[in-house]
Amino acid sequence: MSGIDKYELLSDLAKRRGFFWPSFEIYGGVSGYLDLGPLGAKLKRSIEEKWLKLFVYQHGFAVISTPIITPEKVFIASGHVEHFKDLMVSCLECKRHFKADYVITEAMPGRTDLALEAMPPSEIDSFIATNHIRCPECGGPLSKAEYSLTMFKTNIGPYGDAVGYGRPEAAQGIFIDFKRVFESSREKLPLGIAQVGTAMRNEISPRQGPIRLREFTIMEMELFFDPEAPKCAFLERVKDIELPILLAKEREQRGSKSTNLSVHEALKQGVVLTEWGAYFMALSVKFVQSLGIPLEKQRFEEKMQAERSHYSSQTFDHQIWLDRWGWVEIAGHAYRTDFDLSAHIKSSGADLSIFKPYDVPTEKRVTVIVPIDSSLGPMLREKAKPVIEALKQSNPDQVKRAIAQNGYYEVQGFKIQPTQLRFEDRVVRETGRRVVPHVVEPSYGAERVTYSLLEYSYTRNKDRIVLKLPPELAPTKVMIFPLMPKDGLSEIGSTIQQVLLESGIETEYDEAGTIGRRYARADEVGVPLSITVDYQTKNDQTVTVRDRDSWQQVRRQWKELPQHIHRFLRSEIKFQELGDIAQVNYE
Ligand SMILES: [Zn+2]
Repeated sequence: MSGIDKYELLSDLAKRRGFFWPSFEIYGGVSGYLDLGPLGAKLKRSIEEKWLKLFVYQHGFAVISTPIITPEKVFIASGHVEHFKDLMVSCLECKRHFKADYVITEAMPGRTDLALEAMPPSEIDSFIATNHIRCPECGGPLSKAEYSLTMFKTNIGPYGDAVGYGRPEAAQGIFIDFKRVFESSREKLPLGIAQVGTAMRNEISPRQGPIRLREFTIMEMELFFDPEAPKCAFLERVKDIELPILLAKEREQRGSKSTNLSVHEALKQGVVLTEWGAYFMALSVKFVQSLGIPLEKQRFEEKMQAERSHYSSQTFDHQIWLDRWGWVEIAGHAYRTDFDLSAHIKSSGADLSIFKPYDVPTEKRVTVIVPIDSSLGPMLREKAKPVIEALKQSNPDQVKRAIAQNGYYEVQGFKIQPTQLRFEDRVVRETGRRVVPHVVEPSYGAERVTYSLLEYSYTRNKDRIVLKLPPELAPTKVMIFPLMPKDGLSEIGSTIQQVLLESGIETEYDEAGTIGRRYARADEVGVPLSITVDYQTKNDQTVTVRDRDSWQQVRRQWKELPQHIHRFLRSEIKFQELGDIAQVNYE
């Protein structure tokens, strides 16, 4: 087994049994794409359901669905057109292209202090030169670093005049729809809006199998809260959960040791900025543990300021340890503040703020900006609406200062002259205030989660592969085996399968080969329970039920099984409680 890592072992099983394989295989494949086979697709679906239950449904939050291809103006407003880029270097010999940070990480593993994703091209160039880093494939010299946009670009409509991009995250659709969802639901903050769907990133030469995909399923939630009422009501439930955090300050010292902090401590020490952020990190630990990945194989890497996404004030990557790639990010927890909503308010002119009424109305003397439409209209034309709106929203003191200094006030590129507006003092009765909510975001790549789950489920018992998938997630929950495909056993087996299917348990039937081989096949794809119809079944309607993990067997009347299997799958009872221990050995 030496030299073969779990990725290789798993890839072999995955292809053979229908979990996953490279896409477009018959044409030689394209890196960064992955097909999920019948079992893989089902497994991913179960993981999505589990995630939705844990992060969304149990809090009464919302799920929406928005388009993948998105008009350019959305990603200009959100900052993606400007920032969603990676630095690329090319080999001058073999002409291969690489992500610049990949080349450096390959050459210098263990440098946790480098904010590689944030280094400007000049620094990357001098770092590569000083450390004599060469092409990881052929050892040839490398080109200077250049930016390349990692969004897929396309045209909306066949005329080529409206640029669109494949969304690299599901978040922007959620931000744009925030107000509608808010108004159509209970008009209360905090409000979580989630989306599970395809996202695309035009990665530079991805070479990490299922870990870095150009098209993947994102499971993302934006939690909107009032920054003046930032409490998370669910915090109490998780306050003692331990978060293993690799702190930015530890990384700056080139260290890689995680500090274990309870949710409570992490907040008290100011390591995590928001209660909601800490709450979702704790849920994340629970979620990943429920996939069979122990806490000691998990950590949260705090991103250094320079390496955070443009929209984030704090980011922790939830990483887990994988056999081939080491620490791999499966989720990001970002504090996006009001960055995105404010950007869309500014760019679209739409009011995405919400109104919070006071208990008692107040009166206040304020200065307001009154734009003179008759003068601004002809100048701004089709831009009039957003610009005038932005002008109204501007701070009157700032506008006065700018006019005093420059003779005009600039908004969205237009120079507004003092004659085009006036200031008015008003007494306003305030019945409440307008709030642009802040946002905390947990975001997961479903394929990475699926792969990680498979890797941690992969075990061996004697010479057999046993895929110890958590029973509730296993694509097939029960196999039905007639001991022999004759003497009426097949018919009883088919009946039992039908009954289990009707009660909502994914059940399959197999009568080919020896019973031992059939058990082995079931173990290999992670079926938690195997039911064997034997000759005793004909006398007393009992069947044996075999446990994938212990290979123990119990016996019970098959008609009683559906309700008990449901309880077993929900982890309400142990396997031994499914029936009376049976001394059979069909292995
Ligand atoms: Zn090369």
